[in-house]
Amino acid sequence: MNIAIIGTGYVGLVTGACLAESGNSVICIDNDEQKIAGLRAGTVPFHEPLLDAVVLQAGRQGNLQFTTRLDEGTRLADIVFLALGTPTGSDGNADIGPLLQCAHELAEILDHDCLVVVKSTVPPGTCEDIQALFDTMLGRRAAGCAVKVASNPEFLAEGSAVTDFRLPARIVVGTSDDADAETLKQLYAPFDPDGTRLIEMNLRSAEFAKYACNAMLAARISLINELANIAGPLGADIGPVCQVLKSDPRIGPRYLEPGAGYGGSCLPKDLRALIRMAGDKGETAPMLHSIEEVNRRQVGLVFNAIEKYFWGRFQGRCVAVWGLAFKAGTDDIRESPSLALIRALLDAGAQVRAYDPIAEPAVESSFTHPGLVLADSAEQACLDADVLVVMTEWEEFMTPDFRWLASTLRSPAIFDARNLYQDKDLKSLGLRHYQPGRTFPA
Ligand code: NAD
Repeated sequence: MNIAIIGTGYVGLVTGACLAESGNSVICIDNDEQKIAGLRAGTVPFHEPLLDAVVLQAGRQGNLQFTTRLDEGTRLADIVFLALGTPTGSDGNADIGPLLQCAHELAEILDHDCLVVVKSTVPPGTCEDIQALFDTMLGRRAAGCAVKVASNPEFLAEGSAVTDFRLPARIVVGTSDDADAETLKQLYAPFDPDGTRLIEMNLRSAEFAKYACNAMLAARISLINELANIAGPLGADIGPVCQVLKSDPRIGPRYLEPGAGYGGSCLPKDLRALIRMAGDKGETAPMLHSIEEVNRRQVGLVFNAIEKYFWGRFQGRCVAVWGLAFKAGTDDIRESPSLALIRALLDAGAQVRAYDPIAEPAVESSFTHPGLVLADSAEQACLDADVLVVMTEWEEFMTPDFRWLASTLRSPAIFDARNLYQDKDLKSLGLRHYQPGRTFPA
């Protein structure tokens, strides 16, 4: 099929590259000229495992092209995906203004039948609004073509986006008629070899499914964090408790790591949007509020532990921070707990020496502070530092040289916000060890 993707970000580019890989002819469109120029030259604008190779290969095969022009990109499209960002708006709900503006521009130029598929995360009712917009504008123009709108929210996770797209746990398709669902079934057939993954529903249910999924994931993270916070003072060790939880098939093994709270470009903003939508419908949604509240507190707990360790005085203190990305495998720093902690440390008067294997350029271009130094290596970040905080679970942080850390850190302590290390490995070396869910040794 001929596919156009509008919005060549994390979701749009992965979608475009994987659909091109499966034999479709894909044009990715973005209004960021620099991004498109880079992609034409073979440069993927963000870090995502496997994506460079898929983009390169699809480009070589002639299946994947890039443009800034909406008319050129959509001229032959059977399906047009909308994959623009939907960040938090001023009222807390998703800002779908740019998406609607884009649909408007599309309705001014489309002159052939096609299916417009909303991949962005949008409040229920958005696809119906976009359908009404097409119906009105195409009618007014007497365009002589029919444009249908479908919902196909994306569930990939940054850091494993290509694998997630190639082998999805489920493909959600929301349509207002069977023919549109059939078109999407054909498109996704290579990604659903056993025919069990594609779940059909109406437009609003598909739109809501994405918010429901993110609310459930955020709930698990906040609940395990809250349990960890209770376990510590009760003298229980959350590590083996997590093992018990994960072994229960009714609970399942994932998203049960106590840590510094969730971040990134999806969970926080989608929770906010859902709370706003609930409020608009007169629902108080107490659980959703609690999920957010627990998450907000979590970085504060790491900060409090460091503050306590320094007896409340940050002046003259230097904190090494390992990890800037909101999680391993990505350079995405949107709503990263690490940056929230760094801001709090800098505001309190500490110096920060931070290191991230991938995300430093993203920080350099969006956040500078005279008290923040970005180091070239994990070791370099620790030179002249009093303590170390580990905020992202990158592979290279998993087995550090504790002996070297014990002799290098000026007030040797590791604030292990991701629960990566075993107490016993550190204690014998004189390294103090803070973990969520465990009382900080006096
Ligand atoms: P992103 O910010 O990485 O990408 C959006 C892209 O759209 C940018 O490249 C931007 O330049 C481009 N754009 C904006 N306005 C445009 C316009 N008028 N014409 C052409 N291009 C335009 O966003 P993302 O992370 O890919 O997320 C996209 C959507 O997918 C959001 O709704 C998000 O909630 C959802 N989503 C994201 C993820 C994720 O892990 N990032 C996962 C699932 C769903």
